[in-house]
Amino acid sequence: MKKLVVANWKMNPVSLDLGRKIFMSIEHRMHLAKNTEAVICPPSLFLPAFSHYSAKVKLGAQNLSWEEQGAFTGEISPLMVKAFKTDYAILGHSERRLFFGETDSMVAFKLYAALKHKLIPIVCLGGEKNAKKDDMKKLVAKQFKAVTRQIEKKDLHRIVFVYEPVWAISTMKNSEPATGEHANELVEYIHELAGVNSHVLYGGTVNKNNVQQFAKYPMIDGALVGAASLDPDNFWQIIKEFERESIHRG
Ligand code: PEP
Repeated sequence: MKKLVVANWKMNPVSLDLGRKIFMSIEHRMHLAKNTEAVICPPSLFLPAFSHYSAKVKLGAQNLSWEEQGAFTGEISPLMVKAFKTDYAILGHSERRLFFGETDSMVAFKLYAALKHKLIPIVCLGGEKNAKKDDMKKLVAKQFKAVTRQIEKKDLHRIVFVYEPVWAISTMKNSEPATGEHANELVEYIHELAGVNSHVLYGGTVNKNNVQQFAKYPMIDGALVGAASLDPDNFWQIIKEFERESIHRG
């Protein structure tokens, strides 16, 4: 299984020109990565522009409606993102939960819709207000059960899960990245929950300086990267490190 490194640009950058430069700078280097796939999740308004260049870099949406069309002001249909060569969708990100009131049951609907439309969902686990560092397994188990409740076991391998503790996200107050050991323990736990052939990433302040700490664990299948993904050199070093580790292990 290839490693997967996903860029979550959030609501950045504000200019399409700058976005295009960052995107192309990664796209040009991806022929050097044989065992690692890169996904860029830009603001949805940029998807049409990037869909022309997305041969080596895959595209992802940052959110999705569970509805296909209709009177749902401000929402983005899975059919719309699919029309612009978008293969992935981040679902249940902590910022959606904390700032926009997303609940487990909304994430469950979105997950069902993403799979129905043959998108690859990237489902974040570990984001909830006041999440306690020493009780993350309990939170992850609760969220996993709730968001996958409509999904058949045989379809779990179609989902990419991310262990992304809310307290490790770089922009959160008093944030600190998880240790590699903690990330690995929780990633292993999610593999246990999701079963064989599952894909589980780690997210939370991954950058070129600390990526080795996570990439060295074979069970960590890649990373979800926020702030560092807007700096193409930093993002590329993260891809290179996962690539190096997977080649090293054969
Ligand atoms: C994120 O919010 O998905 C994320 C990984 O952010 P950062 O890398 O900036 O912590």
